[in-house]
Amino acid sequence: MNENKSPIINGLVCPIPLPHKDQIILGHGSGGRLSHELITRTFFSYFNNPILSRCDDAGVVSIDAPRLAISTDSHVVYPLVFPGGDIGRLAICGTVNDIAMMGAKPMFITTGFILEEGLNVSFLERILDSMKKAAEEAGVDIIAGDTKVVQKGKADGLYINTTGVGVINHNLSIGGAFAKPGDVVILSGPIGNHGIAVLSARGELGLEIAVESDVAPLNGLVEKMLETTDEIHVLRDPTRGGLATSLNEIAQQSNVCVYLHENLIPIHPSVAAACELLGFDPLYVANEGKLIAIVGNKDAEKMLSTMQSHYYGREATIIGEIRDQPQGRVVMKTTIGSTRIVEMLSGELLPRIC
Ligand code: MG
Repeated sequence: MNENKSPIINGLVCPIPLPHKDQIILGHGSGGRLSHELITRTFFSYFNNPILSRCDDAGVVSIDAPRLAISTDSHVVYPLVFPGGDIGRLAICGTVNDIAMMGAKPMFITTGFILEEGLNVSFLERILDSMKKAAEEAGVDIIAGDTKVVQKGKADGLYINTTGVGVINHNLSIGGAFAKPGDVVILSGPIGNHGIAVLSARGELGLEIAVESDVAPLNGLVEKMLETTDEIHVLRDPTRGGLATSLNEIAQQSNVCVYLHENLIPIHPSVAAACELLGFDPLYVANEGKLIAIVGNKDAEKMLSTMQSHYYGREATIIGEIRDQPQGRVVMKTTIGSTRIVEMLSGELLPRIC
């Protein structure tokens, strides 16, 4: 008998599925007793704070700030676990970083889970533990959540949506539209690790690549950066589409030229080798623990040393500058001395990377 189905007794289908300790069953998404048990026994073992444990329809918080940054992201990465991280850490860090890129301090996270019938509860617990640790590292509270279950075959184990709220406690205007000619482009570390780590975990390459994802919360780094200068114009995490796509977005939003020096762009040798083998341009490969900072020339060196003194910015380096022409373009001086236009990613390089 398939234990995930309602048991058949004397030819009748029992409308109440039996509780199952080891696997997720459809009843866990019913909103009834099984859902309640899953939430109180499993989710609350990892996520617990006075706001969540009130078990009301919404988390109620007090916020004293002139401006808020709010962002949401759905995570469908495949596989669910990869070198250096998993979907849980990614789901927290992805949203924390989007909030931090507005110069905001992330405070609260909400989570929405789509679970596939048959998912092992022990695996779910591993993911929840990873989320708990990432949330602790980032200093954010998980204050609301939802769980739904879909039939076996209708999801790849689990998907996680997270929404974050952060407070902006300064008067700076930070955003993609504020890059100015003369500004300096700083990258917080080497690119391409996340995309290559996830790809290698799929086991479809026929080779082992010793690359770990860079997935990490960057709000601590951003906090230090905000203390260093008020000349931060743009912060962006180059996730899907990679460095090239993020810089193209900024060039277009600010109507400036982003001028890069290829020889200054850091790439770990193992990532470079994997990209060469696979025919990928690392400029387009996803990152989950890197940021681009575009800052005023005056404080660029000071900013660089601040970043380098933080763990997640230890390999930070200046990679280029902002020019006025050609507007809306990313231009790169190549290692052989020529210049080329770096286009935005068209299509999808690697599906389900985050
Ligand atoms: Mg982003």
